[in-house]
Amino acid sequence: MREAALSHEILAADGGVPVRSTLLPYGRQTIDEDDVRSVIDVLRCDWLTTGPKVVEFEEAFAAYVGAKFALSFSSGTAALHGAAFATGLKPGDEAITSPLTFAATANCILYQGSTPVFADVCADTLNLNPQEVAERITPHTRALLPVDYAGHPADMDAMLALAERHGLVVIEDACHALGAEYQRRRVGSGAHMTVFSFHPVKQLTTGEGGMVTTDRADYAEALRRFRNHGISSDARQRQAEGQWYYEMTLLGFNYRLSDVACALGLSQLKKLEGNLARRREIAAHYSSAFKELAEITLPTVRDAVRPAWHLYPIRVRPEKLKVGRGEIFRALRAEKIGVNVHYIPVHLHPYYRDRFGYRGGEFPAAESAYEQLISLPMFHGMTDADAEDVIDAVRKVIGHYLC
Ligand SMILES: *Cc1c(COP(=O)(O)O)cnc(C)c1O
Repeated sequence: MREAALSHEILAADGGVPVRSTLLPYGRQTIDEDDVRSVIDVLRCDWLTTGPKVVEFEEAFAAYVGAKFALSFSSGTAALHGAAFATGLKPGDEAITSPLTFAATANCILYQGSTPVFADVCADTLNLNPQEVAERITPHTRALLPVDYAGHPADMDAMLALAERHGLVVIEDACHALGAEYQRRRVGSGAHMTVFSFHPVKQLTTGEGGMVTTDRADYAEALRRFRNHGISSDARQRQAEGQWYYEMTLLGFNYRLSDVACALGLSQLKKLEGNLARRREIAAHYSSAFKELAEITLPTVRDAVRPAWHLYPIRVRPEKLKVGRGEIFRALRAEKIGVNVHYIPVHLHPYYRDRFGYRGGEFPAAESAYEQLISLPMFHGMTDADAEDVIDAVRKVIGHYLC
């Protein structure tokens, strides 16, 4: 009944009353009193950066994902740069990644002077398509960078098999996928290196921050030096040992994550499982509410996968609607639903077009998905009433524009 009533209501975009009065963002952090206290405690300690909280956070994180090593970085982008460096990517090398990602995934290849090669995505998950990857492997290929789009793990068995056959390194961009499971294992333990981000819209935040996990001691050591100017020991180690001497052995950066940030990360990590459960609840709620809506395609979940639901991306079906994605997007925004679009395919950004000559049409699955995608609000702090508002707004807008 409610549904029928809503579809006859005037859209907020046409001067009607919006579904809610305040904008619901597509993602946001939750910071509780424990988080605040743990940060304040660090502010009263001796170490604001590279202190005991860094090691504690890294050890807890490594244990959580099931990896031997976890190395923190000042952002997910810095962590990707570190992984590209540890791989040994250099000018003349190629690395294959998805066009349907945040630009940083491809940019980290450029930081090393190597060439990003895009391969198209699978139509269901919008993750890198292994067949498309296989066709783009050349004698210059050194690495594969699959992205766990929206928090749904990429086809890692296929990626690792290709890597094995061709001697490649797999860097999994799991910035969407902290806490996701692939074949009963947590993301972070499968690839040669796995990269996470702690930006406020992600499942766990440190403000800015990132992490690389790996089982390989040589990668861990390269990552450790790379984030600290290429220096072989850190300041705290030297103080503890009463030493002043250190060596810079490679050209690194200051990509360290502070003790303050790591204290927040540790506190957030304790709540991660509960937050993931809440995201799964919201996703299940959306999926059951929308299953009768033939005008939109819902996110797919493959067998043996448990997504972490960073995003809940729907695709509008243009053949069933009077208007395109742009109009639907604007109408939802007018209803005060803070929808977003993930992503403008990387190769279509002016920088990539100008530098590599992309013109559009190269990656039809990614490009057609881009034309249809809308990310609905998805974050663990959402209330049931927030989720109901999203459902009401989608029904109202889609109902209005039915063919
Ligand atoms: C968030 C994100 C990054 C970058 O992380 P920052 O911490 O913002 O630097 C990289 N790749 C993907 C897919 C992301 O979503």
